Amino acid sequence: MSVCVRIAPSPTGNLHIGTARTAVFNWLYARRHGGQFILRIEDTDRDRSLPRYTRNILAGLAWLGLDWDEGPIYQSKRIKRYQAVVQQLLDQGLAYRCYVSEAELEEMRAAQKAAGKAPRYDNRHRFLTEAQRQAYEAEGRQPVIRFKIEEPLEVSWVDLIRGPITWNTQDLGGDMVIARADGYPLYNLAVVVDDIDMGITHVIRGEDHIGNTPKQILLYRALGHEPPQFAHSPLILNPEGKKLSKRDGATSVAEFQQLGFLPEALKNYLALLSWSPPDGEELFSLEKAAALFDFDRVNRAAARFDWDKLNWINSQYIKRLSPPELVERLTPFWQAAGFDLSGVPDPTWLEDVARLIADGIDRLAEAPPLSRFLFQEPLSYTLAALEQLRLPGVAEAMAAMAATLAAAELPQVSVDSLKPLVDQVAKAQNMKKGLLMKSLRAALTGDLQGPDLLESFALLQRRGWALGRLEAVRKLVSW
Ligand code: GLU
Repeated sequence: MSVCVRIAPSPTGNLHIGTARTAVFNWLYARRHGGQFILRIEDTDRDRSLPRYTRNILAGLAWLGLDWDEGPIYQSKRIKRYQAVVQQLLDQGLAYRCYVSEAELEEMRAAQKAAGKAPRYDNRHRFLTEAQRQAYEAEGRQPVIRFKIEEPLEVSWVDLIRGPITWNTQDLGGDMVIARADGYPLYNLAVVVDDIDMGITHVIRGEDHIGNTPKQILLYRALGHEPPQFAHSPLILNPEGKKLSKRDGATSVAEFQQLGFLPEALKNYLALLSWSPPDGEELFSLEKAAALFDFDRVNRAAARFDWDKLNWINSQYIKRLSPPELVERLTPFWQAAGFDLSGVPDPTWLEDVARLIADGIDRLAEAPPLSRFLFQEPLSYTLAALEQLRLPGVAEAMAAMAATLAAAELPQVSVDSLKPLVDQVAKAQNMKKGLLMKSLRAALTGDLQGPDLLESFALLQRRGWALGRLEAVRKLVSW
């Protein structure tokens, strides 16, 4: 039987990083076995599902390059199918109509709590007589449909990640609701019907679903199907061991994208979060990982999110990009920062800018502040840069640098052609090289820190901005 897996996000929020990791595992497993990877949108919760979340999920998976073979399949388009299955379970006597009101349920739970018992449905409407049923109907009560869960009974499966797991049906909270009063199916029912209809062989999902698995296994049996294999992957926690939250910086894939992580780096990191390849390699493409992926190397313990590691992995991927690729990746970040890219001297200029800053960044979003001085005229200066330019002799040295540069009429501006000019000015002005360089940085970039100075100088000169900035210093410090 060929492998068929699925990722089944609910569009009740943006694509979460945990769902993305689950998608990575599914993708790896499908590719490893030459199987199918299906995308299913579980949008049966009509109050909380929103189209914008669906769009975000599809965009996030596509951005990550987790290409799916089939779908998206929308559960909301399959309601009739679920209702038919619910009817079948009713007809077979495996499910029944339950008329208990919300108030009665609350009363029942309060009594259970007072008696120190866990809350559960006490199956009170399982054996209603026809007369009782009709009386409730006459009252206008709308029934939910409950699936009968026999107790006590042990439900076991061998989880591909967590090993053998057994649940007693006494711990499942009583007969479970599979359809709401308005006829809409609930999660456990819809998932099982879909996984059967789609021929899912392996359900790979987050460990938060373990409690649903015994219920789903019972539904499989009731519907006359063998359950698939289950693999419950560990949750992703923050560095303190708590659930990853907004306060941790980012939780959705879109946020990671905005922070400037590359999709290939994020995927690599997500795969590494609970899994490691046998060769211990930390940087790998998902295609390479797919040749090696198996559940025996998936950790059972919860994964701790490690920003330093993710940043490091991302920086490695950034360094590996060719200059044109780097420009392509940086362009949306420059544009978002409001930089006008149309006025740049030539395409190689942009590539040289990209190459200059690539070494100093972990994330693409760090690029705009580092390269602002190359895109925006007039320059804005930090207070420290202005103070630097006001030091004795500095304005004169900048004027001398401007004059020397103008006189040199360099045919080609490069670090090599600028270096002797800087040395010449240092000597003529009798200024220590360090002081001159620091002042040049202040004059040319408006800051005291930044990428390599001579490279920046050359890029500015190619843009035709260096001279003006050097000349501007005198006016700048004159008031
Ligand atoms: N829709 C569920 C969720 O988003 C996933 C269900 C499953 O994988 O079985 O958590």
